[in-house]
Amino acid sequence: MRSTARTGPIPPGGRSASSSPGSSSRARRSADRLRPGRGASWRRPPSCARDSSSVSPDIKNLSRAELERWCMDAGEPPYRAAQILAWVHRKGAADFAAMSSLPRALRARLAEAFTLGRLEPAVVAEARDGTRKLLFRLPPADGKRPAAIESVLIPQVDRPTGARDRLTLCISTQAGCGMGCGFCATAAMGLVRNLFPAEIVGQVSAGGALAAPRPLTNIVLMGMGEPLANYDAVRTALEILTAEWGYAISPRRITVSTVGLAP
Ligand code: SF4
Repeated sequence: MRSTARTGPIPPGGRSASSSPGSSSRARRSADRLRPGRGASWRRPPSCARDSSSVSPDIKNLSRAELERWCMDAGEPPYRAAQILAWVHRKGAADFAAMSSLPRALRARLAEAFTLGRLEPAVVAEARDGTRKLLFRLPPADGKRPAAIESVLIPQVDRPTGARDRLTLCISTQAGCGMGCGFCATAAMGLVRNLFPAEIVGQVSAGGALAAPRPLTNIVLMGMGEPLANYDAVRTALEILTAEWGYAISPRRITVSTVGLAP
């Protein structure tokens, strides 16, 4: 049986030694190309890894600490990271050129170093009770096959105790799952791949857009996948979802559901 754990406060710049460079020589060469200056210490973190055809990482995969390192290596003050991330996540900028409070030269460097992706549902299906299922098609990554994931928007109205109506979004953290729970249809797929932080957070962005003008009241990490089997990406995604520069969702309204895996 699954247990659930509400998230505690996410420390700023919550990533740790796991942000070390990828091990393959190809990953190191790609990171070197992306370094903003000579002698720089910034490396493409594992959460930015992409399929070999992709050159620029999606900036939505970065934690604040990772982007602060990039800023310092680019000769920018670290506080720029929160400004950039506010444009990326809170203001939903469509491209780097739209980030009008940033110096023009910095916007140009960001556009050279990163992409700014957006996750859009390929299919939205609605049930009679108002529950909506969002299907996302994901590109192949890390040499794995293309994948599809689901999110579910679950309205809960006319709650008997007079509590306010809820609109809960259930999101996925992996494509498929390797945990093999006997009652679960996802288990039959096996694990296709881990999701990137941008793909986890992108489900919240897409679900929120679909729900508008009603706000999402709760987020549950209870869709496809075992969240703690994709710990680094989930941790970065939770930082983005709870940060003031991000989605500013109270940790009390986010639930992580796990089979009990210890990361
Ligand atoms: S998604 Fe994975 S962990 Fe969750 S119930 Fe299915 S097999 Fe188990």
